[in-house]
Amino acid sequence: MRSANMPKSTRSLALISEPDVETVFERLREAMPGRTKNAKGPKGQPDAYRSCISCMLSAQSLDSNTAKAARALFALAASPEEMLALEDEAIAQAIKPCGLYNMKTRNIRKFNQALLAEHGGVVPDTRSGLLSLPGIGRKCADIVMSFTFGADVIAVDTHVHRVCNRIGLTDAKTAEKTAEQIEQRAPDWAMADGHFWLIQFGKRVCTSRSPKCDRCPVSDLCLWYQRETDAGATS
Ligand code: SF4
Repeated sequence: MRSANMPKSTRSLALISEPDVETVFERLREAMPGRTKNAKGPKGQPDAYRSCISCMLSAQSLDSNTAKAARALFALAASPEEMLALEDEAIAQAIKPCGLYNMKTRNIRKFNQALLAEHGGVVPDTRSGLLSLPGIGRKCADIVMSFTFGADVIAVDTHVHRVCNRIGLTDAKTAEKTAEQIEQRAPDWAMADGHFWLIQFGKRVCTSRSPKCDRCPVSDLCLWYQRETDAGATS
């Protein structure tokens, strides 16, 4: 069985049964920490406005660079009015560490304009409201819903996407599709903490390059593991 240097794109693209989905979540609940009382979103921001902006900054950026860019930007402005008073050049300069800064500057301006025009400057607390804002996709909307508004939502980042599709909890090619499928397939009791179990499992066990299948609590249910084991037996 191949367990090292596995390419990120390797996925099962098949589904395990509904009872097995339940079993996977039961085992992850046993093995991984859930939501802590003061859980902060991956971007660690204290309010919905800054969480949205940080999430926009995080696209194709390392967490450390996103944090640097967010610190510099929020030192200049921390509300829609203050943000719109800034020149584009000032925003771009502040967020340079996170890359794609011209595109992100345009998105930040459009986001703030829409937030003021359509929501009176207050970040909406519904997924549809968040998704209506320029620059906010499903991942950002769900992170804000979960971490800022405390909703029982499994936000899908790169770790959650990888784990779900290796095991066969979902069979989606994009994180957005994974989010739609996992919402349909996860048991209700797993919605509050599911994101936390999956993300920690992805960081500690089912890692991108070298998944630790030999000590994985769901290897008997994992479609990727089964496929690799079968491939190893016939080669
Ligand atoms: S057996 Fe476990 S660690 Fe290995 S790919 Fe499957 S879920 Fe990931």
